[in-house]
Amino acid sequence: MYDFAFGDVSLTRIVEMEMPLLEARAFFPDWDEAAIAPYAGWMVPRHYRPDSGLVVIAIQAFLIRTARHTILVDSCVGNNKPRNREFFDDAEFPWMDRFLATGARPEDIDFVLCTHLHVDHVGWNTRLEDGRWVPTFPNARYIFARTELDYWLSQSERGLMTRTGDYVADSVIPILEAKRELLVEMDHQIEDGIVLAPLPGHTPGQVGLHIASGGDEALICGDLMHHMIQCHIPAWSTIACADRAAARATREAFLDRYAETDVTILPSHFPNPSAGRIVPEGEAFAFRYLGE
Ligand SMILES: [Zn+2]
Repeated sequence: MYDFAFGDVSLTRIVEMEMPLLEARAFFPDWDEAAIAPYAGWMVPRHYRPDSGLVVIAIQAFLIRTARHTILVDSCVGNNKPRNREFFDDAEFPWMDRFLATGARPEDIDFVLCTHLHVDHVGWNTRLEDGRWVPTFPNARYIFARTELDYWLSQSERGLMTRTGDYVADSVIPILEAKRELLVEMDHQIEDGIVLAPLPGHTPGQVGLHIASGGDEALICGDLMHHMIQCHIPAWSTIACADRAAARATREAFLDRYAETDVTILPSHFPNPSAGRIVPEGEAFAFRYLGE
């Protein structure tokens, strides 16, 4: 059971939530109703709800199965964790049931890859056992880009994680204490055809995952973009971006590079089915979901 196949590699989405979640004007500092008006036809209601001003966001993990490895990319928000945001605080998502429904067991995961260390990408790294946070996937090596880990450990140490709460303390540090981490460079190869891709800007060490098998290619691109409008208006970064200018530069180069290719692009937060291709449109780009 899987959602997409690229050569011999399968990919299954494991969705934690998909709903109108973030206030567009607050999340995108440049948000402008006049600028988005030409796109209302496809945006409303699937991607944007003008009545509430909320953009629709998916939070999900991707399960990758190759001939050699089972890899979980990003681990969502997680359950029972103290957070400063209502939707994330002490959550009780049925995510683990959905994970098990794929046929995989936690002990089957060889690698967990966090594209970056934001709260919605690290949550299921750990679970609560007898009052302690322990690795959810006991046999996995957790892949962190060295640059990314250094940055967030420093943020946590300096007490700067006030917006959402210090999720590094319960979702990253216990992995280090259990010695399950694998620190890598931003272009690390997991196996032949499964290679990290540097996408810095949203966070300093954000990486994507490039999949090449049997002539097919796909690229999981984390939070390179959060919303499809950013294909049409690539200049818009978000308040969650550590360096908005760098995030923009990386996004613009990425869109240029992958437009008019057959590479399937999977941004973490695009709603169902999340996977599509980048095509040129006017002065910028558009995103075409596979099969639509
Ligand atoms: Zn995210």
